[in-house]
Amino acid sequence: MLSVSEALQRILEHIDTLEAESVALEDAFERVLSEDVVASYPLPPFANSSMDGYAVQCADLEPIPVRLQVVQDIPAGHAPEQVLERGQAARIMTGAPLPTGADTVVPVEFTNDVLRGPTPPAEVTIMQTVSCGENVRHSGEDVQQGEVVLPQGRQLRAADLGMLAGLGYTAVSVIRQPRIALISTGDELLTSDQPLRPGKIHDTNSYTLSALIRSWGGVPVRLGIARDTVGEVRSLFQRAIDLKSDLILSTAGVSVGAFDVVKTVLDELGAVDFWRVNMRPGKPLTFGQMGGIPFVGLPGNPVSAMVTFMVFVRPVIATMLGLDPAVTDTQTVRVGEAMSSDGRMTFVRIRLVEEGGEWVAYTTGTQSSGALSSLVKADGLLIIPADKRQVKAGEYLEVWRLNR
Ligand code: AMP
Ligand code: MG
Repeated sequence: MLSVSEALQRILEHIDTLEAESVALEDAFERVLSEDVVASYPLPPFANSSMDGYAVQCADLEPIPVRLQVVQDIPAGHAPEQVLERGQAARIMTGAPLPTGADTVVPVEFTNDVLRGPTPPAEVTIMQTVSCGENVRHSGEDVQQGEVVLPQGRQLRAADLGMLAGLGYTAVSVIRQPRIALISTGDELLTSDQPLRPGKIHDTNSYTLSALIRSWGGVPVRLGIARDTVGEVRSLFQRAIDLKSDLILSTAGVSVGAFDVVKTVLDELGAVDFWRVNMRPGKPLTFGQMGGIPFVGLPGNPVSAMVTFMVFVRPVIATMLGLDPAVTDTQTVRVGEAMSSDGRMTFVRIRLVEEGGEWVAYTTGTQSSGALSSLVKADGLLIIPADKRQVKAGEYLEVWRLNR
């Protein structure tokens, strides 16, 4: 039996980062930068006012009050027309460029300009002083020209898109999203639009796994259901190969003792290993390649399929995107009730309850690997390490947060 980390390592040895592509900035949210972004100009690009008020020379602000001649009016978006001399002021709006000669902005509230009309007064009296340089945003104080504002490997967030727009980008170079072919196998499976009939159940794995693929940055390509015949299984896997997907993912039909059509087809179209991984839920796992495309066969049980996806496929997607495959959304919590395991690394579906200022984990009820409700109710997966058979209430263990 393989440990979880051995199995993951064996998989990731065969996974490479995908190539870059250019995408429009409006489509770049959560995409991964393929190269450093360097500022080709400073931000702000020019010195400007952070207040509505009067641009002045600080040397004129002593003694106060002082009366200055208003020589120009600078709205946002307009360039100053003249140099500001001693004894002069320019009415200036927030974001408007500071005229050469000015070094300080006095907020309008500190002046006698109470009208704030469409044209500035001929003179303004400064009633209250400010320190030299105040209310001026200098060129480059946000970002300097030549600075690396966003590093390669960055998964773009909202503020990052604003930064790129501010630097004049309309498109950005990101890692291509992996396209992941998804195949459900099983004679018992119905598509969602087919009414339930005896012996049948609806395919749920293609929905849970599509959503997980999306949430980790991949693009699901849902190929549907193959019944347990060599012909149907072969034709869907052949389509996955023909589509040149980056990863082929299937569920079910690989558990020990199962009807072995999947194995027959896998041996024919590629090379695969059947692994028993020391984890619960989700012991049987298949890995290999088909037509040169990496292939992961997940267990059919809905909970096992999702948990094994989290453990083995999420890191594959991360690696393809050039991201760190390690799980980062973890938290150490107090265990609220006694739990046991059979010695396999166990992923317990838990909900988190706040008690006395800390998070405490309780199971979500039945832990059957077929019971999706255990995941619907779950805030996270509590990890009981391999070989730890008993967990007492009050112990502290690690939880993977599930928030998608
Ligand atoms: P198997 O791996 O084929 O032995 O399937 C294990 C269990 O998972 C069985 O109870 C199947 O009915 C169930 N199962 C397999 N595939 C799916 C699916 N796509 N959606 C929901 N349940 C499934
Ligand atoms: Mg089956």
